[in-house]
Amino acid sequence: MNQRTFLYQLQLLDLELDKNEKRLSEIRGIISYSDDIKKFEQAISIIQSEKKTWQQKLNKISGEAQIIQEKTKKSEQSLYDGTIKNPKELQNVNIEIDSLKKRLSVLDEQQLEIMFSIEELDDQTSINKQSLESLTKEKNAQNEILLREIEEIEKSNNKLTIEKSPILTQIEDEFLGTYEKLRKSKNKIAVSLIVDNACSMCGNGLPPMEVQKAKSNADEIFCPVCKRFLYCG
Ligand SMILES: [Zn+2]
Repeated sequence: MNQRTFLYQLQLLDLELDKNEKRLSEIRGIISYSDDIKKFEQAISIIQSEKKTWQQKLNKISGEAQIIQEKTKKSEQSLYDGTIKNPKELQNVNIEIDSLKKRLSVLDEQQLEIMFSIEELDDQTSINKQSLESLTKEKNAQNEILLREIEEIEKSNNKLTIEKSPILTQIEDEFLGTYEKLRKSKNKIAVSLIVDNACSMCGNGLPPMEVQKAKSNADEIFCPVCKRFLYCG
Protein backbone atom coordinates (compact mmCIF):
# COMPACT_ATOMS: atom_id res chain seq x y z
CA MET A 1 0.00 0.00 0.00
CA ASN A 2 1.21 3.48 -0.75
CA GLN A 3 1.71 6.23 1.83
CA ARG A 4 -1.45 8.01 0.68
CA THR A 5 -3.58 5.03 1.68
CA PHE A 6 -2.17 5.05 5.20
CA LEU A 7 -2.48 8.81 5.40
CA TYR A 8 -6.11 8.58 4.36
CA GLN A 9 -6.79 5.95 7.02
CA LEU A 10 -4.97 8.10 9.55
CA GLN A 11 -7.05 11.12 8.55
CA LEU A 12 -10.32 9.25 9.12
CA LEU A 13 -9.26 8.52 12.69
CA ASP A 14 -7.87 12.03 13.22
CA LEU A 15 -11.15 13.56 12.07
CA GLU A 16 -13.01 11.41 14.59
CA LEU A 17 -10.59 12.56 17.29
CA ASP A 18 -11.12 16.19 16.21
CA LYS A 19 -14.88 15.74 16.44
CA ASN A 20 -14.50 14.28 19.95
CA GLU A 21 -12.21 17.12 21.01
CA LYS A 22 -14.67 19.73 19.74
CA ARG A 23 -17.55 18.11 21.64
CA LEU A 24 -15.42 17.82 24.80
CA SER A 25 -14.64 21.51 24.76
CA GLU A 26 -18.33 22.30 24.14
CA ILE A 27 -19.33 20.14 27.12
CA ARG A 28 -16.70 21.72 29.36
CA GLY A 29 -18.06 25.13 28.36
CA ILE A 30 -21.64 24.12 29.21
CA ILE A 31 -20.60 22.63 32.57
CA SER A 32 -18.56 25.64 33.62
CA TYR A 33 -21.14 28.15 32.40
CA SER A 34 -22.82 29.38 35.55
CA ASP A 35 -23.71 32.98 34.77
CA ASP A 36 -27.38 32.26 35.35
CA ILE A 37 -26.63 30.80 38.79
CA LYS A 38 -24.33 33.72 39.60
CA LYS A 39 -27.12 36.12 38.64
CA PHE A 40 -29.44 34.69 41.31
CA GLU A 41 -26.66 34.52 43.91
CA GLN A 42 -25.84 38.17 43.29
CA ALA A 43 -29.50 39.19 43.50
CA ILE A 44 -29.82 37.38 46.84
CA SER A 45 -26.70 39.01 48.23
CA ILE A 46 -27.89 42.49 47.17
CA ILE A 47 -31.26 41.89 48.84
CA GLN A 48 -29.55 40.64 52.00
CA SER A 49 -27.37 43.70 52.28
CA GLU A 50 -30.38 45.94 51.70
CA LYS A 51 -32.20 44.05 54.45
CA LYS A 52 -29.26 44.57 56.79
CA THR A 53 -29.40 48.33 56.22
CA TRP A 54 -33.13 48.37 57.01
CA GLN A 55 -32.58 46.28 60.11
CA GLN A 56 -29.92 48.68 61.37
CA LYS A 57 -32.32 51.58 60.84
CA LEU A 58 -35.06 49.65 62.59
CA ASN A 59 -32.80 48.94 65.59
CA LYS A 60 -31.91 52.60 65.85
CA ILE A 61 -35.53 53.70 65.72
CA SER A 62 -36.70 51.08 68.18
CA GLY A 63 -33.90 52.10 70.52
CA GLU A 64 -35.06 55.72 70.34
CA ALA A 65 -38.70 54.64 70.80
CA GLN A 66 -37.77 52.71 73.93
CA ILE A 67 -36.01 55.71 75.43
CA ILE A 68 -39.03 57.93 74.66
CA GLN A 69 -41.42 55.39 76.18
CA GLU A 70 -39.39 55.34 79.38
CA LYS A 71 -39.20 59.11 79.46
CA THR A 72 -42.98 59.37 78.94
CA LYS A 73 -43.60 56.85 81.71
CA LYS A 74 -41.41 58.78 84.11
CA SER A 75 -43.03 62.10 83.23
CA GLU A 76 -46.51 60.59 83.65
CA GLN A 77 -45.50 59.22 87.04
CA SER A 78 -44.23 62.61 88.12
CA LEU A 79 -47.67 64.04 87.31
CA TYR A 80 -49.41 61.76 89.78
CA ASP A 81 -46.94 61.08 92.55
CA GLY A 82 -47.17 64.60 93.86
CA THR A 83 -43.52 65.52 93.34
CA ILE A 84 -44.55 68.44 91.13
CA LYS A 85 -46.85 70.92 92.72
CA ASN A 86 -46.24 74.07 90.73
CA PRO A 87 -49.12 74.38 88.14
CA LYS A 88 -46.80 75.97 85.56
CA GLU A 89 -44.37 73.10 85.97
CA LEU A 90 -47.22 70.58 85.66
CA GLN A 91 -48.30 72.26 82.46
CA ASN A 92 -44.76 72.02 81.10
CA VAL A 93 -44.64 68.32 81.91
CA ASN A 94 -47.94 67.80 80.09
CA ILE A 95 -46.60 69.64 77.06
CA GLU A 96 -43.48 67.48 77.16
CA ILE A 97 -45.56 64.28 77.36
CA ASP A 98 -47.61 65.38 74.35
CA SER A 99 -44.53 66.07 72.30
CA LEU A 100 -42.95 62.75 73.36
CA LYS A 101 -46.11 60.91 72.31
CA LYS A 102 -46.15 62.68 68.96
CA ARG A 103 -42.54 61.68 68.36
CA LEU A 104 -43.33 58.13 69.42
CA SER A 105 -46.18 57.86 66.94
CA VAL A 106 -43.88 59.06 64.14
CA LEU A 107 -41.32 56.43 65.16
CA ASP A 108 -44.00 53.72 65.31
CA GLU A 109 -45.09 54.59 61.82
CA GLN A 110 -41.48 54.46 60.59
CA GLN A 111 -40.98 51.10 62.26
CA LEU A 112 -44.06 49.70 60.54
CA GLU A 113 -42.88 50.96 57.17
CA ILE A 114 -39.45 49.43 57.64
CA MET A 115 -40.94 46.13 58.79
CA PHE A 116 -43.07 46.11 55.67
CA SER A 117 -39.98 46.75 53.50
CA ILE A 118 -38.10 43.93 55.25
CA GLU A 119 -41.01 41.59 54.67
CA GLU A 120 -40.99 42.46 50.99
CA LEU A 121 -37.24 41.81 50.79
CA ASP A 122 -37.75 38.44 52.51
CA ASP A 123 -40.34 37.55 49.88
CA GLN A 124 -37.91 38.51 47.11
CA THR A 125 -35.17 36.45 48.75
CA SER A 126 -37.34 33.37 48.93
CA ILE A 127 -38.41 33.75 45.26
CA ASN A 128 -34.76 34.05 44.21
CA LYS A 129 -33.75 31.13 46.40
CA GLN A 130 -36.45 28.95 44.86
CA SER A 131 -35.30 29.85 41.35
CA LEU A 132 -31.69 29.20 42.31
CA GLU A 133 -32.57 25.84 43.79
CA SER A 134 -34.49 24.65 40.75
CA LEU A 135 -31.82 25.96 38.41
CA THR A 136 -29.10 24.18 40.40
CA LYS A 137 -31.11 20.94 40.31
CA GLU A 138 -31.64 21.28 36.58
CA LYS A 139 -27.96 21.99 36.01
CA ASN A 140 -26.86 19.06 38.16
CA ALA A 141 -29.11 16.70 36.22
CA GLN A 142 -27.80 18.10 32.95
CA ASN A 143 -24.20 17.83 34.16
CA GLU A 144 -24.68 14.20 35.08
CA ILE A 145 -25.69 13.41 31.49
CA LEU A 146 -22.78 15.47 30.16
CA LEU A 147 -20.28 13.78 32.48
CA ARG A 148 -21.43 10.41 31.15
CA GLU A 149 -20.95 11.73 27.63
CA ILE A 150 -17.41 12.82 28.54
CA GLU A 151 -16.69 9.27 29.71
CA GLU A 152 -17.96 7.87 26.41
CA ILE A 153 -15.88 10.32 24.40
CA GLU A 154 -12.77 9.49 26.41
CA LYS A 155 -13.34 5.79 25.76
CA SER A 156 -13.72 6.53 22.05
CA ASN A 157 -10.51 8.60 22.10
CA ASN A 158 -8.61 5.70 23.64
CA LYS A 159 -9.96 3.32 21.01
CA LEU A 160 -9.06 5.70 18.17
CA THR A 161 -5.56 6.22 19.55
CA ILE A 162 -5.04 2.46 19.69
CA GLU A 163 -6.30 2.14 16.11
CA LYS A 164 -3.93 4.87 14.98
CA SER A 165 -0.82 3.18 16.29
CA PRO A 166 -0.37 0.40 13.62
CA ILE A 167 -1.12 2.92 10.86
CA LEU A 168 1.46 5.37 12.19
CA THR A 169 4.16 2.69 12.10
CA GLN A 170 3.53 2.39 8.35
CA ILE A 171 3.94 6.07 7.61
CA GLU A 172 7.34 7.52 6.88
CA ASP A 173 8.37 10.59 8.89
CA GLU A 174 8.57 12.78 5.82
CA PHE A 175 4.97 12.00 4.81
CA LEU A 176 3.70 12.35 8.34
CA GLY A 177 5.33 15.79 8.52
CA THR A 178 3.68 16.87 5.25
CA TYR A 179 0.36 15.44 6.41
CA GLU A 180 0.50 17.38 9.68
CA LYS A 181 1.46 20.62 7.95
CA LEU A 182 -1.42 20.22 5.50
CA ARG A 183 -3.86 19.43 8.31
CA LYS A 184 -2.88 22.69 9.97
CA SER A 185 -3.12 24.85 6.88
CA LYS A 186 -5.96 23.10 5.03
CA ASN A 187 -8.77 23.04 7.53
CA LYS A 188 -7.73 19.66 8.94
CA ILE A 189 -8.03 17.84 5.60
CA ALA A 190 -4.65 16.75 4.21
CA VAL A 191 -5.89 13.97 1.95
CA SER A 192 -8.66 14.66 -0.55
CA LEU A 193 -10.73 11.92 -2.13
CA ILE A 194 -11.19 11.88 -5.87
CA VAL A 195 -14.90 11.82 -6.62
CA ASP A 196 -16.24 11.87 -10.20
CA ASN A 197 -12.75 12.62 -11.54
CA ALA A 198 -12.39 15.74 -9.43
CA CYS A 199 -10.73 16.69 -6.17
CA SER A 200 -13.55 16.49 -3.64
CA MET A 201 -12.09 19.26 -1.52
CA CYS A 202 -11.58 22.03 -4.08
CA GLY A 203 -13.65 20.69 -6.98
CA ASN A 204 -10.75 20.82 -9.42
CA GLY A 205 -11.44 18.49 -12.38
CA LEU A 206 -8.68 15.96 -13.02
CA PRO A 207 -7.65 14.61 -16.45
CA PRO A 208 -7.88 10.79 -16.72
CA MET A 209 -4.12 10.53 -16.59
CA GLU A 210 -4.01 12.24 -13.22
CA VAL A 211 -6.74 9.94 -11.93
CA GLN A 212 -4.75 6.95 -13.14
CA LYS A 213 -1.70 8.27 -11.30
CA ALA A 214 -3.73 8.66 -8.14
CA LYS A 215 -4.79 5.04 -8.43
CA SER A 216 -1.16 3.93 -8.78
CA ASN A 217 1.20 3.11 -5.99
CA ALA A 218 2.97 6.47 -6.19
CA ASP A 219 3.23 8.30 -2.89
CA GLU A 220 3.45 11.91 -4.00
CA ILE A 221 0.24 12.72 -5.80
CA PHE A 222 -1.13 16.15 -4.97
CA CYS A 223 -4.07 18.16 -6.21
CA PRO A 224 -2.54 20.88 -8.41
CA VAL A 225 -5.00 23.45 -7.06
CA CYS A 226 -5.45 22.86 -3.33
CA LYS A 227 -2.15 20.98 -2.91
CA ARG A 228 -3.64 18.21 -0.80
CA PHE A 229 -2.73 14.57 -1.25
CA LEU A 230 -5.12 12.95 -3.71
CA TYR A 231 -6.55 9.54 -2.95
CA CYS A 232 -8.89 7.22 -4.80
CA GLY A 233 -11.26 5.61 -2.34
ZN1 LIG B 1 -7.95 20.04 -4.61
